[in-house]
Amino acid sequence: MIYLDHAATAPLRRGVLESMLPYLKEQFANASGVYAPARSVHHAVEQARRQVSSLIGASVREVIFTSGGTESDNWALYGTAMSSSDRKRIVTSAMEHHAVLNTCHALANQGYEIICLQPDKRGYIRISDAEEAINENTCLVSLMLANNELGTLQPVRQVAQIAHARGALMHTDAVQAVGHIPVDVNTMDVDLLSMSAHKFGGPKGVGALYIRSGTRINPLMNGGAQERGMRPGTENTPAIVGMGYAAMRASEEMDSEAEQVRLLRDHMLRLIKTSLPNVRINSCCEDALPGHVHVSVPGMDTSMLLTRLDIEGIAASAGSACASGSIERSHVLSAMYPDETHCADLRFSIGPENTLDELEKTVSLLQRIVNA
Ligand code: PLP
Repeated sequence: MIYLDHAATAPLRRGVLESMLPYLKEQFANASGVYAPARSVHHAVEQARRQVSSLIGASVREVIFTSGGTESDNWALYGTAMSSSDRKRIVTSAMEHHAVLNTCHALANQGYEIICLQPDKRGYIRISDAEEAINENTCLVSLMLANNELGTLQPVRQVAQIAHARGALMHTDAVQAVGHIPVDVNTMDVDLLSMSAHKFGGPKGVGALYIRSGTRINPLMNGGAQERGMRPGTENTPAIVGMGYAAMRASEEMDSEAEQVRLLRDHMLRLIKTSLPNVRINSCCEDALPGHVHVSVPGMDTSMLLTRLDIEGIAASAGSACASGSIERSHVLSAMYPDETHCADLRFSIGPENTLDELEKTVSLLQRIVNA
């Protein structure tokens, strides 16, 4: 298989599985126990917290483990909205993941006013729109750091300055960015940041929410006193240890991986430009993650293209959810090109284990299908 869907999930980094195995076998004790084996598991959780916090420039106590990006996003939005008694506006973007957008829909049903910033044709929100939307009634601004479909990096730091000047909190969904590019919560000046281990070579079903010390936020669930009473439930210790290990490896390998992936991406883009002149390239090379190639093919059907690629052993994606066998155009592309109809959208997300040969095979197959 040629795997070009790293933005959906990435393979485990070297050593991650081995780091987890003891916590699935002999080190099975509950991290909350008072006896020696439990204390040893508790120490492993705290080491993982140090590894994760160091990846994003946070203090150790500011990182709380969750079940992944979706929970972290839900918690950031619900938790801050519910803790703010007077402010009822939330500003976000139309390009957010559904974990943010659908939480905003739910909050709209509870009386919150949701303002969605629209992307321009390159897939970036405009700072002037944020200036206009964020007012003294805004409790939270939620803007993703990297878009999952296009890889575009949004101006989180500039928007955070506007949010703070008007007394609002700033959340960023950094699920696609963490572990792939340098991310620093202080440089960005965010109050909350969501991350997910399986996007940077850790296990699935574990993530974290960064909460700046002193930020007012309610817990999402009721239960025990784990995670300093902020996130109840017995810790998923093997997954947390795996996430910590993946975070440590990601910070060591990030620069060389990004360089390698960028070279592969540029090669693929050159091939597409020369052999598929009718295909529009939606992803950007500047201010973007290194591995995303997103294209639209006029007059073609996304499901058909993905199925043909799949038959030939190539795993790519539309970047949008599949409902009852048919793929609806993504909300991101619809927001960027509202008048466009009948167009296939494909996202190829490259990883460090891909090769030039794999990319050449993929583009030449795409050329055969499109020109058939
Ligand atoms: N946010 C973004 C930008 C994502 O790309 C994803 C996953 O695709 C999520 C949130 C949800 O993360 P998880 O799969 O860990 O729930």
